Amino acid sequence: MSPWIPKAIILAATVAMFVIRAPHGKQSRAAKIAKSYKGPREKLLLALAGMGFSAPLVWLFTPVLSFAEYPPRPSLVLLGSAIFAAGLWLFHLAHRDLGRNWSVTLEVREEHRLITHGIYRRIRHPMYAALFVMSIGQLLVLPNWVAGPAFLIPFAILFALRIGAEERMMRETFGGAYDAYAATTKRLVPGVW
Ligand code: SAH
Repeated sequence: MSPWIPKAIILAATVAMFVIRAPHGKQSRAAKIAKSYKGPREKLLLALAGMGFSAPLVWLFTPVLSFAEYPPRPSLVLLGSAIFAAGLWLFHLAHRDLGRNWSVTLEVREEHRLITHGIYRRIRHPMYAALFVMSIGQLLVLPNWVAGPAFLIPFAILFALRIGAEERMMRETFGGAYDAYAATTKRLVPGVW
């Protein structure tokens, strides 16, 4: 398989992520922040995830990571592309339903609404689920030992360390309404966890 095929897929998927997020990012930036929970740990986690997210771009546009390259396997590239596409769809649904309440970090916006409809009716963290699915897709498509897992690992760390703080922040903000919502939904996998 030509090495250009995984490159074209990763480029297209990265562009698709930006296209999905851009209008929502603009909308939520316009909504003022009422309370920020962005402490030093959260800042460090964001920097780590940002580095991981940039690695595929470094792989695409520079020779820096060529030492870790391996030949692409068509079956993995195909499977990974399908997984990536499913993750992009979930990413779109989460942005559509969260709307102006979205933040890249732990923040409550002015007139923040608790979203419990659409994909949020099925799980509490569909956007994180989408990021997990997409990072598994990336791991399979991208034939490089460094850039392939470069998002999955920091994102898994960010998720593990953020999830408790995010749910505490939501409970503090929405009280019993969040408790009721949490009682009827799982975090990432419907019916499981
Ligand atoms: N954890 C969610 C949202 C990620 S974006 C998901 O994976 O889909 C992070 C921000 O979304 C948090 O700072 C919080 O302000 C907001 N948020 C999380 N869950 C929410 C919900 N159910 N309703 C409204 N806002 C929510």
